[in-house]
Amino acid sequence: MTATTDRLAGPAPDLLTVDDATDRILAGFQPLADHERVALQDALGRVLIEDVAADIDLPPFDTTAMDGYALRAADVQSASKDAPVTLEVIGQIAAGKLGDRALGSGHAYRILTGAPMPPGADSVVPYEDTDGAGFGGWSGAAGAAQAAAERHVRVFTPVERGENVRFRGEVQRRGEVVVRAGTVIRPGEVAVLATFGRPEVWVHRRPRVAILSTGDELVTAAETPGPGQIRDGNAPALAALCRAYGADPIQLPIARDDPEAVRAALVGAVDQGANLLVTSGGVSMGDFDVVKHVLQSEGAVSFWSIDLRPGKPLAFGHIRGVPILGLPGNPVSSLVTFELFVRPAILTLAGHTRLSKVELLATALEPIKNTSGRENFMRGIVERRTTPNGDQEWTVRLTGEQASNFVTSMARANALIRVPKTQKLISPGEKARVLILDWPPLW
Ligand code: AMP
Ligand code: MG
Repeated sequence: MTATTDRLAGPAPDLLTVDDATDRILAGFQPLADHERVALQDALGRVLIEDVAADIDLPPFDTTAMDGYALRAADVQSASKDAPVTLEVIGQIAAGKLGDRALGSGHAYRILTGAPMPPGADSVVPYEDTDGAGFGGWSGAAGAAQAAAERHVRVFTPVERGENVRFRGEVQRRGEVVVRAGTVIRPGEVAVLATFGRPEVWVHRRPRVAILSTGDELVTAAETPGPGQIRDGNAPALAALCRAYGADPIQLPIARDDPEAVRAALVGAVDQGANLLVTSGGVSMGDFDVVKHVLQSEGAVSFWSIDLRPGKPLAFGHIRGVPILGLPGNPVSSLVTFELFVRPAILTLAGHTRLSKVELLATALEPIKNTSGRENFMRGIVERRTTPNGDQEWTVRLTGEQASNFVTSMARANALIRVPKTQKLISPGEKARVLILDWPPLW
């Protein structure tokens, strides 16, 4: 079966499924070879290229998990409410401070959460289990005065050795890898990297993606369309999608339906260092076919008809070694095909390995009809609801009109409802597969 054609005059391409087209496209992508060192605050969503090891034990010292009294467990074994054990308070240790005396039998140190355990102590009794003053409800000068005046404390409960102590290295041992190469840096990784002394990290570079809208009818958002003209909604949206998925867009000026203009724009983008070229318009049958002409003269290219709605025509190839994806011009088609085909390509360039969108099953609230005879990615609104029997579930309804020129449906949608080619109807109450559009994309 041949699914591609290199000649306009060649055989009509077969229909490719979305999954097959995705596989063929992704086979042409690998992570960019260039890496960069970035400040941790700029690393969110980036992919680490180095193994990072702990440079210290964590915690770095034995420390108390509670506000209370550091002491020797053996001293308070018999303690109870009726027969408390009285200990001598020999000082106070706050977080960031050290005790100045070793603790002996019969002694207690007032100690505050995060403070190092004093030598000689093996456990901590929370202040609630003592008559200690100056904790909790006490604050400021009054609490400090109470604490300073304290000479003895009565302990009402026994403790186990080690109770309420966080031991050196119990979270992490120095020298062990804490974040591996290939990991996406999320806020949790930021915390770990900062904890282990990495204000800067080595990551994959952000891909540079050139965006080109083609069409004689197009003017920019800043212009008032004249007769026969419309504003270019695609390039700004495709650039926004690039940013959302971790790429830096290079937004090229609108190109007219003139092969030379399109060729010059794309070659210019290659010269500017684009890692991927994305065009909108000019790839469908019966169009002026400008993108097709350029692609055919500049390199190997496939023109596909995807068994997909919206967005049947798609071009994929290379211009001077740089991959290009030619998306259809209808606004909904260009945004949906970006999600399906460009997004995983960008993620691959940026070093990601988890490329799928978050997918859920949602209960249809209305009939969802697929009369297209193709796999249909319909615009939907996914919401959570409580069912009559108290369970939580996801629900989905359509945004309304689904034609590919209804750009407003993309603004209303938070999901794409993935309806199989062979399924003509999802009835109310049935489950639909939904791809969530606006959940954090990179992890
Ligand atoms: P094409 O894929 O070039 O045949 O365009 C298909 C339809 O999408 C036509 O109605 C175009 O006017 C429209 N269209 C193409 N490019 C854009 C764009 N950048 N913004 C909005 N509509 C567009
Ligand atoms: Mg066009």
